[in-house]
Amino acid sequence: MLPVARALAVGAHPDDVELQAGGALALWAARGVHVEIAHLTSGEKGSADPGADPAEVARVRRAEAEAAGRALGAARVHFLGAVDGELEVTMAMRLAVARVIRASRPDVVIGHDPWRRWLLHPDHRAAGLLTVDGVVAARDPLYAPELAAEGLPPHRPHTVLLFGTDAPDEVVDVTETLDAKIAALREHASQVGDPDELARRIRTWNLAIGAEFGLGAAEAFHTVDTRGR
Ligand SMILES: [Zn+2]
Repeated sequence: MLPVARALAVGAHPDDVELQAGGALALWAARGVHVEIAHLTSGEKGSADPGADPAEVARVRRAEAEAAGRALGAARVHFLGAVDGELEVTMAMRLAVARVIRASRPDVVIGHDPWRRWLLHPDHRAAGLLTVDGVVAARDPLYAPELAAEGLPPHRPHTVLLFGTDAPDEVVDVTETLDAKIAALREHASQVGDPDELARRIRTWNLAIGAEFGLGAAEAFHTVDTRGR
């Protein structure tokens, strides 16, 4: 297992992290790792009903994400409040990510792979860039002086793991926590439809990833060493 005592996972929408890395996060939490999750947007456009009230959708999704975090064993769930569907790579959002990194002090940060070819959703591309940019802003001592002034000194996670990648080089066997991952996803009741179908879909997907590497159920990531430039 990758050396990790503290982990932070950053996703565009409530449920992205659970879907892509929920098994790894639950495994680490079960082994005593301090896990935190940050959702960049409120997910308020996540409804198939054109008459839905976005504020009400956001309220429901926040409660679902808190329950999902508990199901994975996360110590804390952050909501950064960006507008769903309009996430942009701005200095303000980069600093918001760096603030969470400096406060939670993870060894490993998990996020969307922004360099995945043909990644359609703009929020997922922006979230990936904000995560890696936030790591650099958290790491370098002369970056983000406003954070130091808030009492948040620089912090360098040793590794970034990117999910949704087409170049996996770190595979986590999540056989023992696949049920916890599915339980977390079921907490997103407004999003997931039939819970039995969800469970079948997740099992099939993670078993297929595992089969490629001679494992049971697995999640795959691309590793970035944060000592790079
Ligand atoms: Zn998403």
